[in-house]
Amino acid sequence: MSQAINPNAENSERFIPVAEPLLNGNELAYVTDCVTSSWISSLGKYIPRFEQEFARFCGTKHGVATSNGTTALHLALVVLGIGQGDQVIVPSLTFIASANAVYYTGAEPVLAESEPRTWNLDPIDVARKITPRTKAIMPVHLYGHPVDMDAINAIAREHNLIVLEDAAEAHGAEYKGQRVGRLGRIATFSFYGNKIITTGEGGMLTTDNDELAEKARWLRDHGMSPTERYWHPIIGYNYRITNIQAALGVAQMERIDEFIARKREIAALYSRLLGDVSGITLPPEESWAKSVYWMYSILVGDEFGISRDALMAHLKSCGIDSRPFFHPIHTMPPYNKGESLPVAERLARQGINLPSALTLTDKDIQRIANAIREAKR
Ligand SMILES: *Cc1c(COP(=O)(O)O)cnc(C)c1O
Repeated sequence: MSQAINPNAENSERFIPVAEPLLNGNELAYVTDCVTSSWISSLGKYIPRFEQEFARFCGTKHGVATSNGTTALHLALVVLGIGQGDQVIVPSLTFIASANAVYYTGAEPVLAESEPRTWNLDPIDVARKITPRTKAIMPVHLYGHPVDMDAINAIAREHNLIVLEDAAEAHGAEYKGQRVGRLGRIATFSFYGNKIITTGEGGMLTTDNDELAEKARWLRDHGMSPTERYWHPIIGYNYRITNIQAALGVAQMERIDEFIARKREIAALYSRLLGDVSGITLPPEESWAKSVYWMYSILVGDEFGISRDALMAHLKSCGIDSRPFFHPIHTMPPYNKGESLPVAERLARQGINLPSALTLTDKDIQRIANAIREAKR
C-alpha cells in the first residue's frame, strides 16, 4: 500500500489507535449507489456479490452473509444441529462471542487450554475434554494465526465430531497453503469495524455443504419457506445483512489482498525492530502457517523489567493506544467453575495487542518500537 494514499502520512505526532478501518476505495461510491437507488435493506445486488466474492476468496462453494460474526456463529451451530445436552469444545483464550454462541443454542461450551507456541486451542487438552456429550470442536484462529488443523481434524475424525472454525480474526490466513474458511465442516467470519475487512457490522458463514448453506439462508430469514411466502415451517431468526453493509464488503474485497500484504509488512517491520528486546516474545508464525496478523501481539515477560500494564501505561503517555489480551473465558463470572488453565492465563496476563491498523505508517511503527525500548528496565 503506497504511503501516498495513507491519510496519516503527514501527521507524525498523532494519537495512534489500535485499529481503524480503511475505507478510501470504492466504499463511498457503492454505498451512495444503495442510497440513490433506495436498495438499503436486506435485498439488493451487493449481497449476492459479496457472498460470491467472499466464498471464492475462501475457496468454498457457499458464502452466507449475516448481520454480524456472532449471529454467523450461532447460525452455524444451529444448522449443525447443536443444542440442549451437547458440548462444544472452545478455547478459553478467545473473544467471548465464541463461547456465548454455543450457550445460545442450549449447548455447553467446554473451555480448553491454549498452546504456548501458537496461542491457539491445544489439541492435547481437546482430546482430554471429550465426553459422550461432545458434538463439535470450535478452533479459533486467534489474532490471525491459523490453528494446527490437522491435529484438530484427526481428533474430530477419531471421535466423530464436527469442526467449526471461528475465523473472525483470520480472513486469508493459510494453513499448509490452504485458506481458513474451508478447513472444517463450516466456518464463520466477522466484518466488525476492526477486523481484516469491515462492513461496519457483518458476518459470513462459509461451507462446501449445499444442505447446510441452504438451511442457513432459510434460518437467517425467519425460517420462511423459500417457495411459499409467510409460511414458516421452522423457527428462524432475523440475521440478515443489509445491501449497504454488503456494498462496503464488495469494496473491501477489491482490496483484501493488498490489506493482508500490508498487515504482513507491518508485522515484519515490528518484528525487525523488536526482535532483540529481551523479555519480549514476538507473535508466532509456524512454518506451516501464513498469519494475517490481525492484531500484532507481543508477550511481556519478567525479563522486560516492567509489567505488561506498566508498558501499556507508558505507551498511552506517548500517545499510543494498545489492548490487553482477552481475559480467558473460564475466569469470567458466567463461565467460571474454578478451573485453572495455566497457559491461557499466562498468555492473557502477558499479552498486548499493539496498534495494527492499515492506516499505520512505517514512521508510526518506528515510534511505537522506540517507545517500547524506552520503557524497558
Ligand atoms: C470479532 C469476533 C467475533 C464476533 O464478531 P462480531 O461481528 O463482533 O459479532 C467472534 N469470534 C471472534 C474470535 C472474534 O474476534
